Amino acid sequence: MVIVTKTGTTAEEVAAIEERIRSEGLRPHRIEGARLVIVGVVGDPSEDFREQMQIFPGVERVVRISTPFKLAGAGEGRPATRIEVGGLTIGGGSTVIMAGPCTIESREHLMETAQQVKQAGATILRGGAYKPRTSPYSFQGLEVEGLEYLKEASLATGMPTISEVMEPGLVGTVAAHADILQIGARNTQNFPLLKEAGKVANPVMVKRGPASTISEWLMSAEYVMAAGNPNVILCERGIRTFDDSTRNTQDVAAVAVAKRLSHLPVIIDPSHGTGVWHLVEPLALAGLAAGADGIMVEVHPSPELALADGPQSLTFENFDLLMSGVRRVAAAMDRPLSELVSP
Ligand code: PEP
Ligand code: MN
Repeated sequence: MVIVTKTGTTAEEVAAIEERIRSEGLRPHRIEGARLVIVGVVGDPSEDFREQMQIFPGVERVVRISTPFKLAGAGEGRPATRIEVGGLTIGGGSTVIMAGPCTIESREHLMETAQQVKQAGATILRGGAYKPRTSPYSFQGLEVEGLEYLKEASLATGMPTISEVMEPGLVGTVAAHADILQIGARNTQNFPLLKEAGKVANPVMVKRGPASTISEWLMSAEYVMAAGNPNVILCERGIRTFDDSTRNTQDVAAVAVAKRLSHLPVIIDPSHGTGVWHLVEPLALAGLAAGADGIMVEVHPSPELALADGPQSLTFENFDLLMSGVRRVAAAMDRPLSELVSP
């Protein structure tokens, strides 16, 4: 961190800035320019200290030098994180396919979808049991019953699973039934939830909030990691913008930016990113071409009858078609599909 003083700042004010830096256990390094003084701060200043210095007498500006993502940041020479789950590797040069229904509707519905997506090449089964719905009158999910079906489908197909958790008090329950915890877009800054997810052994996928900057999204991942869980996956699922031609605006650039700023695997979710089933394929492929480590896609036996997110869900046939495009792009990117070891 570097502190730029105002022109005309007195020697006493500069001395007071240096004294304040020392009182934090840090070391000031003064550079005297022709018109102003710059004070470098040597050490690891806290965010609180950085904010306080912005309004310290004589200070014009505080410039951050290192990134605030101590654990989630790319760092120098830090290798890409590889997450091992159910015999699969997420990150580190492969492409992972997560697919399944938005919400688990019944045992049969999930079983049929699981078998079909597996046959088409998916390796992680998604399915929501606790659903964050905009309206309290919409279907809210089968809750624990749904999680039990998810576990059963995982045993039957050999696919590891991912499911959303919305409450800190339910982290243990979801973690006991699903291999990967999903923090949904609406909860991406639910800090008690992030801290609780940091305490379990399951990998955690942190979705980007509809109004989160990339820095805020990485800070959400940092929360999980700071609480003790290094196995974090980032997921770009579209953001809220002025344009209303799609449900959200899929920020493909964010995939490339997150890959540059962080060593964590990045997944693209074109189902929520677009809200439109026929836009899922182009955005899935664009995400992979931008460097994503995988995709998450919603699939339903009859999207027109889905209890949630039907308009963005692929039929089995369309998921098959998507997979042939995915295979071609994954091969072109030299990121082979991560394979499931059959049970
Ligand atoms: C979901 O994955 O079904 C979901 C609700 O996603 P998001 O949190 O991105 O809206
Ligand atoms: Mn959904």
